[in-house]
Amino acid sequence: MSSIADNIGSVTRRIQKATMQAGRAPGAVRLLAVSKTRPPEDLREAADAGQCAFGENYLQEALDKIDALSDVPDIDWHFIGPIQSNKTRQIASTFSWVHSVDRLKIARRLSEHRDPDLPPLNICLQVNINEEESKSGCRLAQLPQLVADIGELPNLSLRGLMAIPDPDQPDESLRQSFRKLADSLSELKTSQPAAGPLDTLSMGMSDDLEIAIEEGATWVRVGSALFGARPPKS
Ligand SMILES: *Cc1c(COP(=O)(O)O)cnc(C)c1O
Repeated sequence: MSSIADNIGSVTRRIQKATMQAGRAPGAVRLLAVSKTRPPEDLREAADAGQCAFGENYLQEALDKIDALSDVPDIDWHFIGPIQSNKTRQIASTFSWVHSVDRLKIARRLSEHRDPDLPPLNICLQVNINEEESKSGCRLAQLPQLVADIGELPNLSLRGLMAIPDPDQPDESLRQSFRKLADSLSELKTSQPAAGPLDTLSMGMSDDLEIAIEEGATWVRVGSALFGARPPKS
């Protein structure tokens, strides 16, 4: 079995190769290690191998790991799971990024609860790009209003968009989904330049990161290719 350090090496090479083939600048795409369900020892091994950005989906589990790894310097914690409004206080004070904001109410609460002495909380708006019934995320059509409203909030930095396209579609439709997200980001950047940096596309996972990078991803969120297959949900 390959080690987590080996896996980080091979995923990093996949990212570098795809970035180069897409003619994008070296370093344009960053690796977010998605560590949900993994024990703190696995994250420590990844951190020892140089990985510093970790994505977590469940707040309590994340807080336990953040505590267990408090001796490791320079870890950046990203929240990527669905957000309940009673969790915004802890999320705003513990994470440096939130990729899964999908409504104004949550953004308002994150801004209210972010300590103004900290750097602004980096957020991405999660878009339900394939308009799937059961999925979280806003609709593409809601983006202009959401961006306008969130751009006014003081303690947030609106970095861009995030999506989890339906993984069961053929590569070409997957590519179309990523492209739609990228096109939406550039439209917003043009129409609402003051809303925030709007420099981030959080898209692509273990099985499709190359396609996402070709379409402009700046964060790829990778779990199983780094840590192995997750146990099935019980
Ligand atoms: C689990 C998860 C990932 C990682 O998926 P893999 O297929 O294991 O790479 C990425 N993004 C989100 C939001 C996730 O929940």
